Amino acid sequence: MERLQKVIAQSGLTSRRKAEELIIDGKVYVNGKKVTELGTKVDPNHDEVVVNGVPLDKEEPVYFMLYKPTGVISSVSDEHGRKVVTDFLPTENRIYPIGRLDFDTSGLLLLTNDGEFANLLSHPKHKIYKTYIAKVEGMPLRESLKKLEKGIMLEDGKTAPAKVRLKRSDKQKETSIVEIAIHEGRNRQVRRMFEAIGHPVIKLKREEYGFLHLKGMNAGEFRELKPHEVKRLR
Ligand code: URA
Repeated sequence: MERLQKVIAQSGLTSRRKAEELIIDGKVYVNGKKVTELGTKVDPNHDEVVVNGVPLDKEEPVYFMLYKPTGVISSVSDEHGRKVVTDFLPTENRIYPIGRLDFDTSGLLLLTNDGEFANLLSHPKHKIYKTYIAKVEGMPLRESLKKLEKGIMLEDGKTAPAKVRLKRSDKQKETSIVEIAIHEGRNRQVRRMFEAIGHPVIKLKREEYGFLHLKGMNAGEFRELKPHEVKRLR
């Protein structure tokens, strides 16, 4: 038996907070009876839960990691008909990405139909480090990378401390490869951080999401997360 608000959130319909509002507002019926009590326990596989007149799908939660190629939108549809991340996955479930990677960024992206899990991982207090490999212009000085480590002022505020490591520089081409791990997920954050120290990003790839990594995968490939991996991310 599970709490009603959790079952609604897990269906991917809405967040747990919104589910609670729907229950309090009398918009939720269980087996034909209106339920306004927040703690109510239901059996997600047998009880019929109806929200705003629409029965919840009794969909099993699924969790995938995709090696997103560049040139793909982190969304479930695109009005211009461009490729989207869900095109790479089996489509029988309503899956959507947790957070996003830019069109030009490749790398590890999680997708699920579990709204509660997605909300949890997207919450700022859930400080999962994501590790990126950035190819940048020029050869950043140690002091510049230190600024990124400490936190740098961007137009939407100072960034949280980051882990930064210069992997190599190519003197002839005047480019460098830098590994950077951040736990925030602001829009184009890594690109803006390097821009701020005068070393614009040429190429960006997310290699790790917490303990998950892309090792052994090629761009465009996906795999289902194992139950213990899902548990460890929570
Ligand atoms: N930071 C960026 O700049 N782009 C991404 O896609 C992810 C993080």
